[in-house]
Amino acid sequence: TRQFTADNPYSIGKPDVFGAPAIDGPSSSSPGPFRFPHNSSPGKPFDKDLAMSKLLDEIPDLDVDMASSILAEVLEIKEPVTWDSIAGLDDVKRTLQDIVVNPLIRPDIFTGLKKPEKGVLLFGPPGTGKTLIGKCLASLGGATFFAISAASVTSKWVGTGEKRVRLLFKIARVLRPSIIYIDEVDSILSSRESSKENECLSRLKTEILASQDGLSCSDNDGVLLIGATNLPQKLDSAARRRFTSRLMIPLPDAEARRALMAHDIKNDNHSIDEDGMSMIVKKTEGYSGADLHTVLKDAAKAPIRELTSLQLRTIPLNKIRPFTVDDVLEVLKKRKPSVAAKDMTEVYAFQKMYGTAL
Ligand code: ADP
Repeated sequence: TRQFTADNPYSIGKPDVFGAPAIDGPSSSSPGPFRFPHNSSPGKPFDKDLAMSKLLDEIPDLDVDMASSILAEVLEIKEPVTWDSIAGLDDVKRTLQDIVVNPLIRPDIFTGLKKPEKGVLLFGPPGTGKTLIGKCLASLGGATFFAISAASVTSKWVGTGEKRVRLLFKIARVLRPSIIYIDEVDSILSSRESSKENECLSRLKTEILASQDGLSCSDNDGVLLIGATNLPQKLDSAARRRFTSRLMIPLPDAEARRALMAHDIKNDNHSIDEDGMSMIVKKTEGYSGADLHTVLKDAAKAPIRELTSLQLRTIPLNKIRPFTVDDVLEVLKKRKPSVAAKDMTEVYAFQKMYGTAL
């Protein structure tokens, strides 16, 4: 495994954060690659006005109100997210670099049999970095990132749902390269048998599947749908089929937990040495990245919690004690992992049946 450095064209943000997969990219001296025209290069603010004027130019009879509420779902990636920002998951990162990022960077190469994927499913327990991966893909590919939460679709989109879905895909095409990231995708694309869908939701689902089908024509190159779910087994077969790559994002293993922790505590006043880290790594088996993050945040505040309110007001910064392994172990007694073992059984069962082998 090679660390990304500033010389690596794929490494846009801070180098040397987490380990990154060994990926050979084009050298920075190669001739300028063809890119889709877009206004959302990594780290640059998303210019809503410019986007709207493009939409007005390219979409006849644009419903401006609806378009502007769709543009409000574009997530501006202010701090570039790179593979280095994500601990562990080396195989997943390598695969996604191949099937998503490279085609976004060089659409002229990925034609014919090499045509890029149009639907990728990220499945696994909550808090394991799926959203972070989505942001990283958008950031590395210079893509407009439409972050759609299924919860808001089922509540806010009622009534105008199908029209909105059609417009969302159209807008994504105009502003390509684009990634449409749907969180909790199972709640929209679940199988009929297992949920009491109302008619509205069912029409919405049909429209999403149809729009997704539309992505496979070459007019729509540069638009990718990413679905994320903790409950992949709820997807029906029609939805499952459309996500041609189905990647499991598991709980972090010991090495990833160590990397996450080292990253989290490095700017804090702590006294945790290598042995202490190893002890915490052992005790946090089954914790998600998000769980671990919460535990460390809580432990880092332990020295402050000991202070009286007078002390809090008067103590010099350099007199506050560092937080310790014991502080972390104390928090671990109270904060248990958020993922139940039985949820993992179902995720593994789905992986075995339908997951893409890495
Ligand atoms: P998910 O979408 O899978 O529910 P998120 O991507 O929202 O999870 O992760 C929540 C938070 O947990 C992130 O913002 C990050 O702080 C932390 N996190 C989880 N997994 C990782 C990871 N592999 N590397 C770095 N941070 C992680």
